[in-house]
Amino acid sequence: MENLFSYYTQVIFITFIVVNHLFEIYLSRRQVTTLHQHRNEVPKEFRTLLTLPDHQKAIRYATAKLNLSQFRLVWDAILLFYWFPFRGAEKLYLALPAVGVHHEVLFLLAFVMIQGILNLPWSIYSTFVVEEKFGFNRSTPKLFIIDRIKGLALGAILGIPLLYGMLLIYQGLGKWWWLVAFLFMTTFQFILIWLYPTVIAPLFNKFKPLEADELKAGIENLVTRAGFNAKEVFIMDASKRSSHGNAYFTGFGKNKRVVFFDTLLKGLATTEVLAILAHELGHMKLKHIPKSLATSLIISFFGFWLMGTLSTSNWFYTGHFIRIISPGVLLLLFSQAIPLYSFWFGPISSWISRKREFEADAYAAGETKAQDLISGLLKLYRENASPVVTDKIYSGFYHSHPPALERIKRLESFK
Ligand SMILES: [Zn+2]
Repeated sequence: MENLFSYYTQVIFITFIVVNHLFEIYLSRRQVTTLHQHRNEVPKEFRTLLTLPDHQKAIRYATAKLNLSQFRLVWDAILLFYWFPFRGAEKLYLALPAVGVHHEVLFLLAFVMIQGILNLPWSIYSTFVVEEKFGFNRSTPKLFIIDRIKGLALGAILGIPLLYGMLLIYQGLGKWWWLVAFLFMTTFQFILIWLYPTVIAPLFNKFKPLEADELKAGIENLVTRAGFNAKEVFIMDASKRSSHGNAYFTGFGKNKRVVFFDTLLKGLATTEVLAILAHELGHMKLKHIPKSLATSLIISFFGFWLMGTLSTSNWFYTGHFIRIISPGVLLLLFSQAIPLYSFWFGPISSWISRKREFEADAYAAGETKAQDLISGLLKLYRENASPVVTDKIYSGFYHSHPPALERIKRLESFK
């Protein structure tokens, strides 16, 4: 029975590796086809702000990224085959010398390092070839290397104690370890989200309060009306890495922030910046961060319960081609194999996220003019060379924001 379970799991696992990657390549091809079909004409809704050359640049840029992503998907599938059906992960575990809990930590660190090195060429190519070709890259090899080293150091400082904590809980607490591990992980995540705006993000970028004179009065007005403090609006030196513009909101409680990329402020009129700020404030006002935290808490609780249940099931390990029952292997399987199964739920989270974007847009349309948000968004599309056309299924899987046309139509209705 156990063997049969293990055998079926192996078949299902291999099927998922193959089907997921083929499906993602198919989605990417669909998107390329849709872009290609629209290459000769700017859709009529966008003609006032987008010229044909802008539109075509966006299509060429998106196509270049999609083509790269298809090679990347093949590469990812090969790596998965190597680690699991070809037993690379099992060999790695057995090759490492350490004992007890250190063995587990060493195994996971070695895996992350090898995977990181194998994937490095992709980010080098993407930054210094694709982004460079379309004029977006501002990073230098030096900054790129510094970023990697900082990321690695941060990962080690946060990740190693987290791993030891999880593994000690597993070893020391018996049957209910997963519940304690869940509480431990959740606390850790809350601390991270709390520290992110003021401690972690400043390691990579400089933040200063937004205080451009002509903006200040308008900002204070908007921010106070939303019930926030103008000190919570910051500008970030994103231009040192890339000329892509953006804005985001982060943190919760006293540590929340709205952050503008300096690259976003350059091309926009004051009224458009205010409309985008109103959109971000809408996310805060509508409590989108606490809401997504609550959702991810529920999912994570379920995930830990599942981990607890599967941790002693032999077939789960052998079914994923590792004949070793150990907490390190369990964590590896939950980070590498389970996402293949959960991939198919992606459209649900994209759908929720898009619904929240509409809500924030509605808030912004009430606080500022819908037209300012429309023109601000379209300028962002233009400056970032994001195509305004998209394939519906592709977008349903990957886009956290509604397609340009739907978003603008909805905004038009608020006028
Ligand atoms: Zn948003």
